Amino acid sequence: MCFTTAHEKILAEPISSQTDQSDVATFAPRLLHWFDNFGRKDLPWQQNITPYRVWVSEIMLQQTQVTTVIPYFQRFIETFPTVTALAHADQDSVLHQWTGLGYYARARNLHKAAWQIVTDFNGELPLTVDELTALPGIGRSTAGAIVAICKDEFAVILDGNVKRVLSRYFAIDRWPGQTSVTNELWQHAKELTPNKRVAHYTQAIMDLGATLCTRSNPDCPACPFTSDCLAHQSDSIESYPGKKPKKTLPTKTTCMLVITNHDGEIMLEKRPSRGLWGGLWSFPEINLADIDRLLADLPVVPHIKRPMQAFRHTFTHFHLEITPIHVQVTAEEQMRRQDKFCWYSLTHPPSIGLTRPVTRIIESLKETHV
Ligand code: SF4
Repeated sequence: MCFTTAHEKILAEPISSQTDQSDVATFAPRLLHWFDNFGRKDLPWQQNITPYRVWVSEIMLQQTQVTTVIPYFQRFIETFPTVTALAHADQDSVLHQWTGLGYYARARNLHKAAWQIVTDFNGELPLTVDELTALPGIGRSTAGAIVAICKDEFAVILDGNVKRVLSRYFAIDRWPGQTSVTNELWQHAKELTPNKRVAHYTQAIMDLGATLCTRSNPDCPACPFTSDCLAHQSDSIESYPGKKPKKTLPTKTTCMLVITNHDGEIMLEKRPSRGLWGGLWSFPEINLADIDRLLADLPVVPHIKRPMQAFRHTFTHFHLEITPIHVQVTAEEQMRRQDKFCWYSLTHPPSIGLTRPVTRIIESLKETHV
């Protein structure tokens, strides 16, 4: 891709024609000028740009910060260097690479979509917004980012960072989750997106949201929009974007059976592929009141029973109060023969996807040298 002409033109034009009103016509040039000087250009997915790498990075970056994503992205691409490699991997190894990143539906959809790309598109990502949004897990904004970055063609994005920037720039104080507000933001995003240097513009608007126009303490003095950002001009940045109407999250409780054997291995159970933590490995969950009866029914001989430190795990739609109960068993042969269970070795951990509470409990077991 060659951007030299447009780039030179922008640098040759000093950014001086800003007015007190939102100067939409110069939004893109100002953003590109800022990006050329200050934007990040050394992120792993900005090197050796391919549709596959851009797709994986865009999915990982949903609801997740760049610094968190970088090591996951590098390991994922190393393990699955192509769409075909990802399609042919088993789900356990894909979820294993995702362990700790959260929102596991993203990994399951990535895997499913890879298979569809191999079967329907000969292993090449289709590069139109319509074809991309027909694949599992790819929404309108992600599709727009892939097309814009890979083809440098007009395509619009509106991820969480961009929603925040535009809500502030246009002083839209209603919650962006409302359909009418989302539609209004899409309209603004479309108007602002240039026809040239779309790839850089797309990187730039995401970058500005991630580095300057951050959720708290935005760095307005360094922003190219101080002169016409309506939130900044009215000194009311904290009012934008509008807040989600408050709803108290319900609390659920569960008891996780942490069963260890003589070799220090931990018994895990594979969760159904659909639903919460689908396809990941976790501890068997039981109702605390039923524990004695359930332990009596287990095809193992329970040895020690002790509660571990209870803790709370919060999902987007509820809190889960988890009480782990540690049980040591002396005979586990019957369990070894059941596919849905595995014995997880702390010294030679298998490549499987674990839920975050499982990782946390395993860490605390390690500390107590179980
Ligand atoms: S001036 Fe401040 S609030 Fe407005 S877009 Fe820039 S960083 Fe965000």
